[in-house]
Amino acid sequence: MVNRRIAEILRSGQPDEQIAIKGWVRTRRESKGFAFLEVNDGSSLANLQVVLNADMPNYAEVIKQLNTGASLEVAGILVASPGKGQRIELQASNVTVYGDADPKTYPLQKKGHSFEFLREIGHLRSRTNSFGAVFRVRNACARAIHQFFQERGFLWIHTPIISASDCEGAGEMFAVTSFNLKDVPLTEAKEVDYSKDFFGKPAYLTVSGQLEAEVMAMAFSNVYTFGPTFRAENSNTSRHLAEFWMVEPEMAFCDLQGDMDLAEAFLKHVFKYVMETCPEDMAFFNERIDKSVLATADNIINNQFERLTYTDAIALLEKADKQFQYPVKWGLDLQSEHERYLAEEVFKKPVILTDYPTEIKAFYMRLNDDEKTVRAMDILAPKIGEIIGGSQREERLDVLERRIKAQGLNSEDYWWYLDLRRYGTVPHAGFGLGFERLVQFMTGMGNIRDVIPFPRAPLTVEF
Ligand code: ATP
Ligand code: MN
Repeated sequence: MVNRRIAEILRSGQPDEQIAIKGWVRTRRESKGFAFLEVNDGSSLANLQVVLNADMPNYAEVIKQLNTGASLEVAGILVASPGKGQRIELQASNVTVYGDADPKTYPLQKKGHSFEFLREIGHLRSRTNSFGAVFRVRNACARAIHQFFQERGFLWIHTPIISASDCEGAGEMFAVTSFNLKDVPLTEAKEVDYSKDFFGKPAYLTVSGQLEAEVMAMAFSNVYTFGPTFRAENSNTSRHLAEFWMVEPEMAFCDLQGDMDLAEAFLKHVFKYVMETCPEDMAFFNERIDKSVLATADNIINNQFERLTYTDAIALLEKADKQFQYPVKWGLDLQSEHERYLAEEVFKKPVILTDYPTEIKAFYMRLNDDEKTVRAMDILAPKIGEIIGGSQREERLDVLERRIKAQGLNSEDYWWYLDLRRYGTVPHAGFGLGFERLVQFMTGMGNIRDVIPFPRAPLTVEF
């Protein structure tokens, strides 16, 4: 007999088909002469209803074991469901229990649990409706990302997870060492002697693959990274993880305009793809998590993003009749409250801010002629704030060297990065998207720890 996935059966299964399914019991209801099981195999939000007749050969024996959480195989015949709520159900002829789940200890009983509680049982939470929906949508986002870039001829490149460069201090870094921490070799000056460490110099978990992506863009024109990055952010926010995934396209022969156009088309594509492939999960989020999820997706797909300069945004914020916790002044980095005010209250859609003050942005961003601003762009999204950060890169060797010095960095550390400007330099641009921020934004999930299967955050590394 053919084993089939429940999503496919609910979509296209027909009465009289002989089938078998495998999955986990969500609920069991007994009535005279029958038992009803709701079975889920992770392929969809909806369960398949399974009907067991009490005259089934091993009924008495299996029914005891079929509690919430038990795993099983059911073989039987599909029948049109006389009950409300489902088109089709499975009339069981044979049930095999793989593993039971003691109802006295299995923590996922029928009632709704808080996300905080579910984080404490991270190994089981994916068996709930909410996390099932989140991780199916996360998968769809990942597919959409690859599809978007692959269709446009971008090369997916794998940048290193262990890196010696700190990408201009994008965030606090985790050190990578093979030293025995109880006996670290010291120099005569009593400093750590990295020459004796595994790599012969300090090494870290990467905070961004951008500098390496630029290397690859100078050979393949259009590339993207999609992989894990790490930041030792000692901040317990609902938007920061210590380990998160980033998507970083990098395009040669591209300016900030092209960068913004690509980023906007990219977000639209991902939303469209998820709406088309996960309508049931998205409807669930809209109903249970955040009533604005579908409207937001519609807004992203169908509206042009607002574009304005940082300077104009500051003027708007200064005029706002709203008390910000952090007062606004030209030259200051925008806080999440400012970003959200612009996206949620002023424009009510995503906003692309450009041309930020030189002082608050990284050395590699292209200097404007006014020397006060750089060709940076951030995309600010309602509810989330910054979701994408990008820029046109500085392709002029002399300007780049000057900027490295001005930021107190050592240009020798960047010798290979500077070589890209010595040999065949071109205008180029790219951006970074925090993958979990995207999934958060898409699903309306309030805490970033609930959109990655195994969150890493301060004091959080259990599962
Ligand atoms: P924030 O100000 O929110 O901390 P950032 O300025 O440090 O962000 P970038 O260095 O520009 O962020 O990183 C690129 C993208 O990665 C951000 O736009 C954001 O979507 C995401 N991101 C940054 N830090 C984290 C984190 N700790 N956890 C999850 N995503 C993150
Ligand atoms: Mn940060």
